[in-house]
Amino acid sequence: MGDKPTIAISHLGCEKNRIDTEHMLGLLVEAGYSVDSNEELANYVIVNTCSFIQSAREESVRTLVELAQADKKIVITGCMAQHFQEQLLDELPEAVAVVGTGDYHKIVDVISRVQAGERVKLVSPEPTYIADETTPRYRTTTEGVAYLRIAEGCDYRCAFCIIPHLRGNQRSRSIESIVTEAKLLASQGVKEIILISQITTNYGLDLYGEPKLAELLKELGKVDVPWIRMHYAYPTGLTPKVIEAMVETPNVLPYLDLPLQHSHPEILRAMNRPWQGSVNDAIVEKLKAALPKAVMRTTFIVGFPGETDEHYTHLLQFVKRHQFDHVGVFTFSPEEETPAYKLPNQLPQELMEARRDELMELQQPISLQRNQQEIGQVVDVLIEQENPETGELIGRSARFSPEVDGLVYVQGEAALGSIVPVAISDADIYDLYGQIVNSYN
Ligand code: SF4
Repeated sequence: MGDKPTIAISHLGCEKNRIDTEHMLGLLVEAGYSVDSNEELANYVIVNTCSFIQSAREESVRTLVELAQADKKIVITGCMAQHFQEQLLDELPEAVAVVGTGDYHKIVDVISRVQAGERVKLVSPEPTYIADETTPRYRTTTEGVAYLRIAEGCDYRCAFCIIPHLRGNQRSRSIESIVTEAKLLASQGVKEIILISQITTNYGLDLYGEPKLAELLKELGKVDVPWIRMHYAYPTGLTPKVIEAMVETPNVLPYLDLPLQHSHPEILRAMNRPWQGSVNDAIVEKLKAALPKAVMRTTFIVGFPGETDEHYTHLLQFVKRHQFDHVGVFTFSPEEETPAYKLPNQLPQELMEARRDELMELQQPISLQRNQQEIGQVVDVLIEQENPETGELIGRSARFSPEVDGLVYVQGEAALGSIVPVAISDADIYDLYGQIVNSYN
């Protein structure tokens, strides 16, 4: 058939959604569709939506409305499709299909059914699918970096979180499958593989009956890729076995992304966090002692229902004490269909924002100081972009994860996607500045 429609994908949301986008692109290209990055020229626009919190939904809705006004035929995929299903078809006449988070791999079939005149709703009530190394994929990140999903879904039920509702329970890929994909990515020139899931430290529990992160890291250590970075490591899951695997596997970066969310045991209990009250000084100190070079990133939620001044002050002091490298702070967002939505003592938005701002201000000099410690050092930097006007290169060192952390601005010449030694000469709260050097001496 020479008259296949052209398709564009508009991508929103997190890196998990990004991988789904990349698989849809891969599947469509494999089936002979032309995928156009220009939405105006495409016959169909797939909008891979996010539904994590209210502001993310608003952004997704804005995108949908703009496309509808431009008379586009819209295929809605991703978390909002899973969340609102029928409702989206009812409210958006331009939507020709709604496809859930466990069904995006059937996108080629969906497009042909739509072509045949059907309005398709394909949303598994409980998503169970996870793509593997055999699923075509067309990467959309800069050439040196790739996300690698090791598991999808979550078995926990934190009171504020809608993820299990949108993405289902945890299902892990096998070690062999992940390693095969890692080798494939390495052979394509990828220098940094970022392992993602909802709880990376629970990897394998569903499949093998026990967490297998340590085993996975050791196997990935044999893949010829310089950087392997883990996201979403839960402190209680960083067992001596996992720490040992991190220490013994040179290409696993000493980077800990710990979604702590709060420090006060009462709030952690109210949040129904998996480890509840065990996020404490001792666990952080233990990690620091075991991995003294580790870069620590964490995120917190302020303004959870019932958070008193005392709870909040506890968090301020915790952040001050532990001197994390990077801290993200979010205000609580009440999500319907989560238990926290109905909790009493919801805090006013202004108070939540004031707490967020204060906590971020407290962290800024700490982040600055951590960055300044790099001045005078020579560090490896993965070059990702070049400023076309100034010729300046932009990359990241092992201290920085894409999207969430800072950048390294680099003077000198290097190929995009290469890792080069950079002498750091300056630093601010977020970023580092330096010059490429020829050797590490
Ligand atoms: S651990 Fe909690 S916050 Fe994280 S995805 Fe699962 S339910 Fe959500």
